[in-house]
Amino acid sequence: MSDCIFCNIVKGNVPSQIEFEDDKIMVFKDINPQAPVHLLLIPKKHFDSLLEVDSEDSDIIGHIYMVAKKIAEQQGFNKDGFRIVMNCGRDGGQTVQHIHFHLLAGRNLQWPPG
Ligand code: AMP
Ligand code: ZN
Repeated sequence: MSDCIFCNIVKGNVPSQIEFEDDKIMVFKDINPQAPVHLLLIPKKHFDSLLEVDSEDSDIIGHIYMVAKKIAEQQGFNKDGFRIVMNCGRDGGQTVQHIHFHLLAGRNLQWPPG
């Protein structure tokens, strides 16, 4: 989508700090980090939110989690733990309408969320 900020990051039209990329997904640093490690994992294909992902495309979700695990192991925060968050819709606090998974680590994260 031409007016989507994350699609424009995928296309290279908007700068980002990329940590991982393959043919299906991209991982880059969140511009407003909420933890020492705060990465966003996104499919390159545009989906507004989880609600738009159908079973045909659902492999991408598992792939994103496997890449998150690999990053945790490579960066060493697998030992202390981490959190993956996917906000969906207004009440979920989603502000960018291109599905994304937050990977947060490097501090003791509280629960419940605000
Ligand atoms: P959410 O509130 O779950 O929709 O999260 C959207 C996230 O995208 C927020 O954590 C923002 O800081 C982040 N964000 C927005 N624009 C950019 C950008 N250009 N580069 C990196 N992260 C961004
Ligand atoms: Zn998009």
